[in-house]
Amino acid sequence: MDYKTNPTSRKELRGIARFVRKLFKCKNKYRFDVMDAFERIPSVFPAVSCLVVEDDEIEGDIPARCVPDFKGHYTIEVKSSIYDGAAEGVGGYRAHILHEICHAILCLLGFTPILDRAFKNNELKPFESMEWQAKALCGEILMPYEETEGLSVRQIRHLCQVSRESAELRYNNYRKPEPKTPLERRARQWF
Ligand SMILES: [Zn+2]
Repeated sequence: MDYKTNPTSRKELRGIARFVRKLFKCKNKYRFDVMDAFERIPSVFPAVSCLVVEDDEIEGDIPARCVPDFKGHYTIEVKSSIYDGAAEGVGGYRAHILHEICHAILCLLGFTPILDRAFKNNELKPFESMEWQAKALCGEILMPYEETEGLSVRQIRHLCQVSRESAELRYNNYRKPEPKTPLERRARQWF
């Protein structure tokens, strides 16, 4: 399930990620302390509160969720098994929690749903999809772009404490050429 929101770009999200790391006073060059952010988010963003809930309080295989009260407040609920795993340092679980924090932060920044109807996964263009935006912001916070450039998958995994999949995604991103603007594409044809 996905929702359409105001467009943004990977570059803009990268800037927001840097700002979020600063807001939470992240001192480590690589690893972002998700558990510390979870504890401190109400003091940094008073419109957001966090809750650890029993596993059976959230249906199915959903690890965590961000619940809006439609009056501008967001509650992040995390299953206790996910919370415990994240506290032990499981990369994928850390990302689950931060993903929901990112949903709340993006909503507070104005990236709220602009249509009532929900969309299926991959039905929206990435830059206007709430899911893509939360995933991208989460990745940028966990694996700072400049700092992780040139690192191996293994190094990214260990230094940033992320899952192998996340580290591989980030690693492969550096090998892909940056998308060219229409002007750059045309200029290439001339020279
Ligand atoms: Zn999501």
